[in-house]
Amino acid sequence: MDWAFQRRMMVSRQLRGRGIRDERALAAMLKIPREDFVLEDSRSAAYSDEPLGIGYGQTISQPYMTALMVQCLELQGSETVLEVGSGCGYHAAVLGALAARVITIELIPELAAMARENLANAGRIGNITVIAGDGSLGYAPEAPYDAISVAAAAAAIPRALIEQIKDGGRMVIPVGPYADQELRVVRKKGGQIDWHVAEYCRFVPLREATPRVD
Ligand code: SAH
Repeated sequence: MDWAFQRRMMVSRQLRGRGIRDERALAAMLKIPREDFVLEDSRSAAYSDEPLGIGYGQTISQPYMTALMVQCLELQGSETVLEVGSGCGYHAAVLGALAARVITIELIPELAAMARENLANAGRIGNITVIAGDGSLGYAPEAPYDAISVAAAAAAIPRALIEQIKDGGRMVIPVGPYADQELRVVRKKGGQIDWHVAEYCRFVPLREATPRVD
Protein backbone atom coordinates (compact mmCIF):
# COMPACT_ATOMS: atom_id res chain seq x y z
CA MET A 1 0.00 0.00 0.00
CA ASP A 2 1.34 3.45 -0.95
CA TRP A 3 0.43 5.25 2.27
CA ALA A 4 1.97 8.58 1.26
CA PHE A 5 -0.18 8.60 -1.87
CA GLN A 6 -3.29 7.74 0.14
CA ARG A 7 -2.53 10.57 2.55
CA ARG A 8 -2.14 13.06 -0.32
CA MET A 9 -5.47 11.94 -1.79
CA MET A 10 -7.18 12.25 1.60
CA VAL A 11 -5.84 15.78 2.10
CA SER A 12 -6.75 17.01 -1.36
CA ARG A 13 -10.17 15.36 -1.73
CA GLN A 14 -11.63 15.00 1.75
CA LEU A 15 -10.01 18.02 3.42
CA ARG A 16 -9.09 20.79 0.94
CA GLY A 17 -11.95 19.73 -1.30
CA ARG A 18 -14.41 20.33 1.53
CA GLY A 19 -13.02 23.66 2.60
CA ILE A 20 -10.36 22.92 5.22
CA ARG A 21 -7.94 25.85 4.93
CA ASP A 22 -5.69 25.58 8.00
CA GLU A 23 -2.35 24.92 6.26
CA ARG A 24 -0.65 23.72 9.45
CA ALA A 25 -3.42 21.19 10.07
CA LEU A 26 -3.27 20.01 6.44
CA ALA A 27 0.52 19.61 6.67
CA ALA A 28 0.20 17.63 9.92
CA MET A 29 -2.38 15.27 8.44
CA LEU A 30 -0.20 14.82 5.36
CA LYS A 31 2.57 13.61 7.66
CA ILE A 32 0.97 11.55 10.46
CA PRO A 33 0.64 7.82 9.63
CA ARG A 34 -3.05 7.21 10.32
CA GLU A 35 -2.58 3.57 9.26
CA ASP A 36 -0.47 3.05 12.41
CA PHE A 37 -3.29 4.21 14.71
CA VAL A 38 -6.22 2.16 13.42
CA LEU A 39 -6.71 -1.53 14.22
CA GLU A 40 -4.70 -4.01 12.19
CA ASP A 41 -7.74 -5.27 10.27
CA SER A 42 -8.81 -1.70 9.34
CA ARG A 43 -5.43 -0.67 7.99
CA SER A 44 -6.50 -0.84 4.35
CA ALA A 45 -9.39 1.54 5.19
CA ALA A 46 -7.18 3.94 7.18
CA TYR A 47 -7.73 6.82 4.72
CA SER A 48 -11.35 6.15 3.84
CA ASP A 49 -13.95 8.87 4.29
CA GLU A 50 -15.70 7.38 7.34
CA PRO A 51 -15.26 6.67 11.05
CA LEU A 52 -13.69 3.28 11.90
CA GLY A 53 -14.13 1.00 14.88
CA ILE A 54 -11.22 0.94 17.34
CA GLY A 55 -12.66 -1.64 19.77
CA TYR A 56 -14.67 -1.28 23.01
CA GLY A 57 -17.59 0.15 20.98
CA GLN A 58 -15.59 3.32 20.16
CA THR A 59 -14.55 4.90 16.86
CA ILE A 60 -11.85 7.05 15.32
CA SER A 61 -13.47 10.01 13.58
CA GLN A 62 -13.62 10.46 9.83
CA PRO A 63 -10.51 12.44 8.69
CA TYR A 64 -12.63 15.48 7.71
CA MET A 65 -14.06 15.72 11.24
CA THR A 66 -10.59 15.60 12.80
CA ALA A 67 -9.37 18.33 10.44
CA LEU A 68 -12.42 20.52 11.02
CA MET A 69 -12.16 20.21 14.82
CA VAL A 70 -8.49 21.09 14.76
CA GLN A 71 -9.08 24.03 12.39
CA CYS A 72 -11.76 25.41 14.74
CA LEU A 73 -9.16 25.68 17.52
CA GLU A 74 -6.94 28.02 15.43
CA LEU A 75 -3.74 26.66 16.96
CA GLN A 76 -0.52 28.65 16.37
CA GLY A 77 2.04 26.41 18.09
CA SER A 78 2.41 27.80 21.62
CA GLU A 79 -0.76 26.37 23.17
CA THR A 80 -1.45 23.83 25.88
CA VAL A 81 -4.39 21.70 24.74
CA LEU A 82 -6.66 19.27 26.58
CA GLU A 83 -8.26 16.47 24.58
CA VAL A 84 -11.12 14.50 26.14
CA GLY A 85 -11.41 11.02 24.58
CA SER A 86 -8.00 9.83 23.33
CA GLY A 87 -9.37 6.73 21.56
CA CYS A 88 -6.51 5.38 19.44
CA GLY A 89 -4.45 8.55 19.81
CA TYR A 90 -4.62 9.81 16.21
CA HIS A 91 -6.34 13.11 16.96
CA ALA A 92 -3.88 13.71 19.82
CA ALA A 93 -1.01 13.18 17.36
CA VAL A 94 -2.46 15.87 15.07
CA LEU A 95 -2.92 18.25 18.02
CA GLY A 96 0.62 17.51 19.19
CA ALA A 97 2.00 18.57 15.79
CA LEU A 98 0.18 21.92 16.06
CA ALA A 99 0.50 22.93 19.72
CA ALA A 100 3.24 23.04 22.36
CA ARG A 101 1.72 20.50 24.72
CA VAL A 102 -1.23 18.09 24.72
CA ILE A 103 -2.88 16.37 27.66
CA THR A 104 -5.31 13.71 26.48
CA ILE A 105 -7.60 11.81 28.84
CA GLU A 106 -9.37 8.53 28.05
CA LEU A 107 -11.96 6.74 30.16
CA ILE A 108 -11.31 3.18 28.92
CA PRO A 109 -7.90 2.12 30.31
CA GLU A 110 -7.19 -0.30 27.45
CA LEU A 111 -7.70 2.52 24.93
CA ALA A 112 -5.50 4.89 26.97
CA ALA A 113 -2.77 2.22 26.79
CA MET A 114 -3.36 1.79 23.06
CA ALA A 115 -3.16 5.55 22.46
CA ARG A 116 0.09 5.77 24.41
CA GLU A 117 1.60 2.87 22.49
CA ASN A 118 0.47 4.16 19.08
CA LEU A 119 1.84 7.65 19.82
CA ALA A 120 5.16 6.21 20.98
CA ASN A 121 5.46 3.95 17.92
CA ALA A 122 4.73 6.87 15.61
CA GLY A 123 7.39 8.96 17.39
CA ARG A 124 4.73 11.49 18.51
CA ILE A 125 4.59 10.98 22.27
CA GLY A 126 7.19 13.70 23.03
CA ASN A 127 4.83 16.58 23.94
CA ILE A 128 1.77 14.44 24.69
CA THR A 129 0.64 13.04 28.05
CA VAL A 130 -2.03 10.30 27.96
CA ILE A 131 -4.08 9.96 31.14
CA ALA A 132 -6.47 7.11 31.91
CA GLY A 133 -9.49 8.66 33.62
CA ASP A 134 -12.79 10.47 33.33
CA GLY A 135 -12.44 13.70 31.36
CA SER A 136 -16.08 14.82 31.53
CA LEU A 137 -14.99 17.21 34.25
CA GLY A 138 -11.81 18.14 32.35
CA TYR A 139 -8.43 17.65 33.98
CA ALA A 140 -7.95 20.16 36.77
CA PRO A 141 -4.25 19.54 37.62
CA GLU A 142 -3.07 21.13 34.34
CA ALA A 143 -5.89 23.65 33.86
CA PRO A 144 -6.53 26.21 32.44
CA TYR A 145 -6.03 25.34 28.76
CA ASP A 146 -5.65 27.51 25.67
CA ALA A 147 -7.82 25.01 23.82
CA ILE A 148 -9.99 22.00 24.63
CA SER A 149 -11.03 19.35 22.09
CA VAL A 150 -13.79 16.95 23.08
CA ALA A 151 -14.14 13.77 21.00
CA ALA A 152 -17.40 12.46 22.49
CA ALA A 153 -20.85 14.06 22.56
CA ALA A 154 -22.18 15.73 25.71
CA ALA A 155 -25.85 16.31 26.52
CA ALA A 156 -24.97 19.94 27.20
CA ILE A 157 -21.66 21.83 27.44
CA PRO A 158 -20.18 20.75 30.81
CA ARG A 159 -19.56 23.73 33.09
CA ALA A 160 -16.30 22.23 34.37
CA LEU A 161 -14.87 22.28 30.84
CA ILE A 162 -15.86 25.92 30.33
CA GLU A 163 -14.12 26.79 33.58
CA GLN A 164 -10.92 25.13 32.38
CA ILE A 165 -10.64 27.28 29.22
CA LYS A 166 -8.19 30.20 29.56
CA ASP A 167 -9.55 33.63 28.87
CA GLY A 168 -9.16 34.13 25.11
CA GLY A 169 -9.25 30.36 24.63
CA ARG A 170 -11.46 28.02 22.61
CA MET A 171 -13.18 24.67 22.86
CA VAL A 172 -14.67 22.37 20.23
CA ILE A 173 -17.32 19.95 21.46
CA PRO A 174 -20.12 17.86 19.97
CA VAL A 175 -23.41 18.40 21.81
CA GLY A 176 -26.70 16.52 21.56
CA PRO A 177 -28.26 13.05 21.30
CA TYR A 178 -26.68 10.43 19.03
CA ALA A 179 -28.49 11.08 15.76
CA ASP A 180 -28.67 14.85 16.07
CA GLN A 181 -25.50 16.54 17.30
CA GLU A 182 -23.97 19.95 16.74
CA LEU A 183 -20.22 20.50 16.67
CA ARG A 184 -19.99 23.67 18.75
CA VAL A 185 -17.08 26.08 18.86
CA VAL A 186 -17.02 27.85 22.20
CA ARG A 187 -14.98 31.01 22.89
CA LYS A 188 -14.21 32.63 26.20
CA LYS A 189 -13.42 36.33 26.21
CA GLY A 190 -13.48 38.76 29.12
CA GLY A 191 -15.21 36.07 31.16
CA GLN A 192 -18.02 35.85 28.58
CA ILE A 193 -18.86 32.73 26.58
CA ASP A 194 -20.17 32.62 23.05
CA TRP A 195 -20.52 29.71 20.68
CA HIS A 196 -21.52 28.83 17.15
CA VAL A 197 -22.24 25.61 15.29
CA ALA A 198 -19.44 24.60 12.89
CA GLU A 199 -21.06 21.40 11.58
CA TYR A 200 -23.57 18.66 12.31
CA CYS A 201 -22.04 15.40 13.46
CA ARG A 202 -22.38 11.99 15.08
CA PHE A 203 -19.99 11.11 17.92
CA VAL A 204 -20.06 8.38 20.56
CA PRO A 205 -21.50 9.67 23.85
CA LEU A 206 -19.39 11.38 26.47
CA ARG A 207 -19.83 9.30 29.60
CA GLU A 208 -20.57 11.83 32.27
CA ALA A 209 -19.34 11.65 35.82
CA THR A 210 -22.35 13.30 37.39
CA PRO A 211 -25.05 10.68 37.91
CA ARG A 212 -28.26 11.63 36.16
CA VAL A 213 -31.54 11.16 37.98
CA ASP A 214 -33.97 11.63 35.07
N1 SAH B 1 -9.96 11.21 19.21
C1 SAH B 1 -10.06 9.78 19.06
C2 SAH B 1 -11.47 9.32 18.89
C3 SAH B 1 -12.10 9.11 20.18
S1 SAH B 1 -13.70 8.37 20.22
C4 SAH B 1 -9.20 9.20 18.00
O1 SAH B 1 -8.51 9.93 17.28
O2 SAH B 1 -9.17 7.97 17.91
C5 SAH B 1 -14.21 9.01 21.76
C6 SAH B 1 -13.49 8.49 22.95
O3 SAH B 1 -14.01 9.17 24.09
C7 SAH B 1 -13.71 7.00 23.22
O4 SAH B 1 -12.47 6.35 23.22
C8 SAH B 1 -14.37 6.97 24.60
O5 SAH B 1 -13.95 5.89 25.40
C9 SAH B 1 -13.92 8.30 25.18
N2 SAH B 1 -14.74 8.81 26.29
C10 SAH B 1 -16.09 8.79 26.44
N3 SAH B 1 -16.44 9.38 27.61
C11 SAH B 1 -15.28 9.81 28.19
C12 SAH B 1 -14.98 10.48 29.41
N4 SAH B 1 -15.94 10.85 30.27
N5 SAH B 1 -13.70 10.74 29.70
C13 SAH B 1 -12.69 10.37 28.85
N6 SAH B 1 -12.92 9.73 27.68
C14 SAH B 1 -14.19 9.45 27.35
